[in-house]
Amino acid sequence: EINCEPLKDLIRTVPDFPKPGILFYDITTLLKDPAGFAQLIDAFAAHYIGKGIDLVLGTEARGFIFAPAIAYRLNAGFVPVRKPKKLPAETAKVSYDLEYGSDSLEIHLDAVKPGQRVLLVDDLLATGGTMQATVQLVEKLGGKVEGIAFAIELDFLKGRNKLEGYDVYSLLHYN
Ligand code: IMP
Repeated sequence: EINCEPLKDLIRTVPDFPKPGILFYDITTLLKDPAGFAQLIDAFAAHYIGKGIDLVLGTEARGFIFAPAIAYRLNAGFVPVRKPKKLPAETAKVSYDLEYGSDSLEIHLDAVKPGQRVLLVDDLLATGGTMQATVQLVEKLGGKVEGIAFAIELDFLKGRNKLEGYDVYSLLHYN
């Protein structure tokens, strides 16, 4: 396994973004570092290579940064999960609760075929609501959730509990 711990030095924390009291983990400082970005993708690829992944799915917007690079390395396809009304063809949709109100995500109905092995990727696991909704979308289409991967997991928010029964793998953990 690749030791990703040094990559923490490349992640910037921004206090009070997007709201007062929230400490935001900003990966743009990692992405622009050629060696750092390569190491991150290498670490994901090393973990999933040989597991028969057919599709790597990324959630708008920051999931779009990692999922295609991982898909390329695994010889898999890439599938976008998007905010409402962005995808042009027929979609499946799920709604999920936020702290205030709710949000929705969509996937093309023909994006995943029944039985395909899918890896779900996002930049960060916080409360787990976003990924839980993404899992529901994939399973609606009959896809098999083979793994769920994050660059960063905020352990203290216990988002992992919402993803019980799935193989959740995060490169970096914060307490
Ligand atoms: P959750 O649904 O509460 O797990 O929130 C995860 C979603 O919010 C992911 O799509 C993240 O991109 C985004 N997110 C939440 N907190 C942060 C952060 O500190 N940095 C970057 N993205 C975040």
